[in-house]
Amino acid sequence: MACDHSKEHRSLVHVVAMNDTEGGPFTRWCAEIWIWCEECGARFRFVGVPLGLSAGQPTVSVDGYELRVPMVPVVPPRVHEEMH
Ligand SMILES: [Zn+2]
Repeated sequence: MACDHSKEHRSLVHVVAMNDTEGGPFTRWCAEIWIWCEECGARFRFVGVPLGLSAGQPTVSVDGYELRVPMVPVVPPRVHEEMH
């Protein structure tokens, strides 16, 4: 019976930190996301997302398999206090 891709799925998320100047502080972060069917290995293409790379909106790779989502860190207050 053919897989209907509805049961188990796997995902891989890779976070990339970027800086505006070489050696400078990180100012931009991006989550790169891939998803596939655990049962048969079929990969999922993201649809309705513009191609390319953007710091201001989600984009997708040319093959459609990699969703790139810009994001910003939000430091929890408690953790921040413990560091001082
Ligand atoms: Zn499947």
